[in-house]
Amino acid sequence: MSAALASERRERVSALLGEWLPTGRFLVGGEWIEPWSGGLSDVVEPATGATIGRIGEAGEVDVEAAVGAAERVRSERSWAGASPFERARVLRQIAALLVRDTERLALLESADAGKPYVDAEADVEYAAACFDYFASLAVGLDGSTRHLDEGFALIRREPVGTVGVITPFNFPIASAAVKLAPALAAGCSVVHKPSEQASLSALGLGKLTLETDLPPGVLNVVTGAGPATGRALVANPRVAKIVFTGSTRVGSEVAALAAATVKRVTMELGGKSANIVLDDAEVAAAAERSHRAYTFNAGQYCEAGSRLLVAARLHDDVVAALIEAAKRTNVGDPLDPRSEMGPLISAAAARRVRTAVAEGADGGVEILGDPGEEGSYVRPTVVVGAAPESPLARRELFGPVVTVLRFSDVDHAIEIANGSEFGLAAGVQTGELERGLRIAERLEAGTVWINDWATGNLTIPVGGWKRSGVGREQGPEGLGEFLELKSVLVSL
Ligand code: NAD
Repeated sequence: MSAALASERRERVSALLGEWLPTGRFLVGGEWIEPWSGGLSDVVEPATGATIGRIGEAGEVDVEAAVGAAERVRSERSWAGASPFERARVLRQIAALLVRDTERLALLESADAGKPYVDAEADVEYAAACFDYFASLAVGLDGSTRHLDEGFALIRREPVGTVGVITPFNFPIASAAVKLAPALAAGCSVVHKPSEQASLSALGLGKLTLETDLPPGVLNVVTGAGPATGRALVANPRVAKIVFTGSTRVGSEVAALAAATVKRVTMELGGKSANIVLDDAEVAAAAERSHRAYTFNAGQYCEAGSRLLVAARLHDDVVAALIEAAKRTNVGDPLDPRSEMGPLISAAAARRVRTAVAEGADGGVEILGDPGEEGSYVRPTVVVGAAPESPLARRELFGPVVTVLRFSDVDHAIEIANGSEFGLAAGVQTGELERGLRIAERLEAGTVWINDWATGNLTIPVGGWKRSGVGREQGPEGLGEFLELKSVLVSL
């Protein structure tokens, strides 16, 4: 029955790709245009390795056309100069269409990114909520006044200009919406380049905006590889700001290139987040949360709890519970409703994770649980006995692998947790809230959960300390990233 549903869903994906979604083209100035070079690349379904479609490869000419369309509409001021109420109205139209087309978009996302259908559905719901939430913030957009000796000044908050948005493969539509919604709410024009590994939902979202009153050219979508399409967008002198989510390595290259034309940047980068289980924690609950913290989205998420720091007294019990949970996890076809965890984004990504684990094992750590042998599927894997400075405890693997480290006391736990180049997220599992709060104060991370992991809502700013990023997404802070200040001084 479940396998039958998966194959029914797969047929529907293929119908959507044939009849509904314009692929192999870019959305520029409200029109679907072919790549200038004619270049196309394959859309590979991670679950099966099959090619299910083609996307266009945008080069400099296509990116220039998209930036030109964005800049044209910006200079006409039909969006940048629209009232906040008008912008909010259009954002709500987009939200409503996302709700209407949740099933279509979730099916495409599940096949394209390899995530379980229910998770893809939740991501589309989150995307719709982003447009609704930032519509409300748009209405409240304000400035302030200051006194002058003879006159006054208006401190205005204006759209930053044309924004280049570059997103990763792991939460394609969610990561796009949390950038596009505040950018549009602020009155910016946008050129969006999704990950070449999962571009379909970005094209779908672009298609939906054509049914709304968003002026053509405010949202443009170009697809293609990072070093070609992404670089051309970052280098384009008419782009005022780059909003990037991806790896720390690429993020630092992007920031360096953006600096050449003094672009503003927001960067959401990598992590190796420490999840601390104190000696007063309840073992079963802490282990269950910790399991979810490293296996959600097959471990392919920036805030994955991939370093688990456990008080020496509870170490063996927590590890035993983790192994049980790993064995129980149903890993399989993301379109099959029985699957709790899908594949990684590609066979190459899975190979990288397996190799890193095998190299760690050569270095003397113990691998509990079997990552599996081939294809793009990797099973939940627990690593014990690693030193805090070893590669498995420091490097972001982006797969369902947790490295368990033992600590002696709270100072020791904080020293290990903060001894990382990253500072995205952290967690404390404890029976005593006050202890949790005191530790949270000392952790170097943009988000700290106490007795939880990866929860939150759109009002909560998210972002990284240290090499995990610059700037924030979500909340009023997320809208602020797309606004520039202007002081208008009036003499009386
Ligand atoms: P990636 O860095 O490989 O690619 C991200 C995006 O950058 C893609 O669209 C890619 O095409 C583009 N790109 C690649 N090279 C480029 C270049 N030279 N110039 C311009 N653009 C370029 O990341 P990924 O593998 O897609 O995603 C995984 C990474 O994203 C992980 O490191 C993860 O931690 C991070 N991430 C961070 C957050 C966060 O909020 N901090 C959220 C999700 C993912």
